[in-house]
Amino acid sequence: MKENNYENTNKSLKKRLKPIKRALKIAGTFLLSMFLILVITGTILVTALTVYVVSFMDDAAYVNLDNLQSNYTTYIYAQQGDEWITYDMISSQGEKRIWVNLEEIPQFVRDAFVYSEDERFYSHDGVDFQGTFMAMANLFLHFWDTERGASTITQQVVKNITGDDAVSGIEGIERKMREIFRSIQVEKNYTKDDILECYLNIVHLYNNCNGVQAAANFYFNKDVSELTLAEATSIAAITKSPQANNPLQHPEANRQRQEYVLEKMLENGAISTDEYEQALAEELTFIGSMSYTSGTEADGEGTSALSAYDNFDDVSSYYVDAVIEQALEIFQDTYGIDREAATEKLYSGGYQIYSCVDLDVQKAVEEKFLDSSNFSSTVLDDPPQAAFIAMDYTGHIIAVIGGVGEKPYPRCLNRANQAIRQPGSCIKPISAYGPAIDLDLITWSTRFKDVPLKILNTDEGGTMLWPKNYSTSGNYGAWSGEYNFAYECLNRSLNTTAAQIIEMLTPSAAFNFLKNDVKLSTLVTYEDGRTDIARSPMSVGALTNGVYLEELVAAYQIFGNLGKYYEPTYISRILDRDGEEVYVHKFRASQVLDESSAYVMNRMMETVVTSSRGTGRAAKLNNVELIAKTGTTQDWKDLLFVGCTPEYVSGIWYGYDIPKEIPTGTYYSSSQIWKNIFGEIADAGTITEFPASSSVVTREYCLESGLLAGSRCTETAVGYYKRSNIPVTCSGDHTGLTDDSTFIETEEVINS
Ligand SMILES: [Zn+2]
Repeated sequence: MKENNYENTNKSLKKRLKPIKRALKIAGTFLLSMFLILVITGTILVTALTVYVVSFMDDAAYVNLDNLQSNYTTYIYAQQGDEWITYDMISSQGEKRIWVNLEEIPQFVRDAFVYSEDERFYSHDGVDFQGTFMAMANLFLHFWDTERGASTITQQVVKNITGDDAVSGIEGIERKMREIFRSIQVEKNYTKDDILECYLNIVHLYNNCNGVQAAANFYFNKDVSELTLAEATSIAAITKSPQANNPLQHPEANRQRQEYVLEKMLENGAISTDEYEQALAEELTFIGSMSYTSGTEADGEGTSALSAYDNFDDVSSYYVDAVIEQALEIFQDTYGIDREAATEKLYSGGYQIYSCVDLDVQKAVEEKFLDSSNFSSTVLDDPPQAAFIAMDYTGHIIAVIGGVGEKPYPRCLNRANQAIRQPGSCIKPISAYGPAIDLDLITWSTRFKDVPLKILNTDEGGTMLWPKNYSTSGNYGAWSGEYNFAYECLNRSLNTTAAQIIEMLTPSAAFNFLKNDVKLSTLVTYEDGRTDIARSPMSVGALTNGVYLEELVAAYQIFGNLGKYYEPTYISRILDRDGEEVYVHKFRASQVLDESSAYVMNRMMETVVTSSRGTGRAAKLNNVELIAKTGTTQDWKDLLFVGCTPEYVSGIWYGYDIPKEIPTGTYYSSSQIWKNIFGEIADAGTITEFPASSSVVTREYCLESGLLAGSRCTETAVGYYKRSNIPVTCSGDHTGLTDDSTFIETEEVINS
């Protein structure tokens, strides 16, 4: 019974369990199905995600921090005493970005940024995942108004470099994912110090400031190394929200965030309580103007923190413009790139350019050019323009000004090196007298009759008497018919003599000297039926196109340094951002005139300012020797003066941009203008006499014959002669020294 009962009980239990079993079976099947579905779905999802992620990893191409520095400021340095100081800076889009190495950034400046922006910077691997999740959630759910937090310093660097900054929707998520992968990759390839250095140099700090150095310069007029804790934290406070927290427009918001930065530093043990309180108590003075004080020391040469007078945002100086132009040419040559690519390099390459400027001279002359009374005795409605340039005797250009009055804008027309003007009589020493002395065709006292050449078969088919002098008197109309010695013809700028010398020398010899030896690049052998290999261009400077004032002045070096020509330059050398030399100017002389020829010329040109009839006598200085030549072109369209002292070779041009006659009686002579502009500086020179040549001697010559004075010659004077070319001694028989010819017959037909 019991068994039965049991059996029955068992049976009934089984019976009762059956639905449960079935239910379990169903449930099991269901769960298994669900599990399988999950596995399959999961696999699909994981696969999809993997494909997605892998595609991002491909997308997240290598982020190179090394390229970062490529977008920073190029410095132009000037030498002052033994130091190189910052003269100006150039960078693209007016952005102020000045790279400083991490070692130059004080620890508390680094800490201010790290502890307020990314507390766990030193422990994470590039990404703060908790914060990132929150930020991504927000992209969908929009809990917050703006993208919020959690961007590590590494991510900010990546974002800045890649310029990848979509913030919402799918694009926002994709951007964030790329940023995460890139940040992890950056952390693998660079040290924390590398990353922090980049960050501190590119972090946006408003007012066009990128990086802590630019901000220190701009907001406090200090080098980053000189910042106080209070100043550093005020700068770090900008980062959070550059517009809203910038201390110039929103000092209170900046102050609030600054307090937060200080708290974070205190909390992390970066500063003491005392330091914290001291910083809170410090009153800040914001400068907010770009009077730069900084200089990098990347080249180890100790560019100092002295301030240059030039501001970053102004129109820069004509000198800086000239440096930029020359640097562009150098880059095109050095890198074999076009002008556009060279510009890109110069403006964002972080180069260090060592210029030849003499800041004192440049600034003094700039001031003179602001005052129109230095050029004209009366105020004109339509005043002429002017240009000035000065260099030393090895081709360093020390000052350049390209226009009268306020400089209108950066890289405007520089009339000293971008305008081609007629040199007039300033051509004569280099085209005629210099080469003729060098070839022993003439001496100090060679006699020239003031009469024209008779030129046969002119373009019109007839003959003509040429050239006229600018101002003449005497028996032959435009020509005096009188005899003068060579040095007098030079100092009175007689056109007839220049023409006669070119006749002896030939136009092509003169042309070759100008083109090849003293490098007047604008002379033409043939252009539109005209050539500079002809009488008129070579004798009186009526060139096909003209010359650059810079090249004309450079050519005159030879008369002050015993015949050596140095190519003029604004730049002595250029270093790249790593301090590697990109360019060094070769100050290499070519001896284009014999020392003795150059010194005889020097003495002849001194009479231009010392002789009673010298055209340049208004420029005479009190303390130092001055040698010079004036130039006036046809119809008084251009006035020139090139003057050399033992220290400087300099020149001025005065005239209209579109050549026309300068109103008579209003302007000063070119000699006077030169003296007004440069006289004071030139006269303050410490070297008072030119170097003499031992191959030049003084000798008495006969005032009748121009030959070496003999015992029977009563009237004599002293001249300078090359030892190798002293005239023969005068016999004392002075008959037959004059004739009554009214012109000199030319021997062959040369286009004039
Ligand atoms: Zn004599």
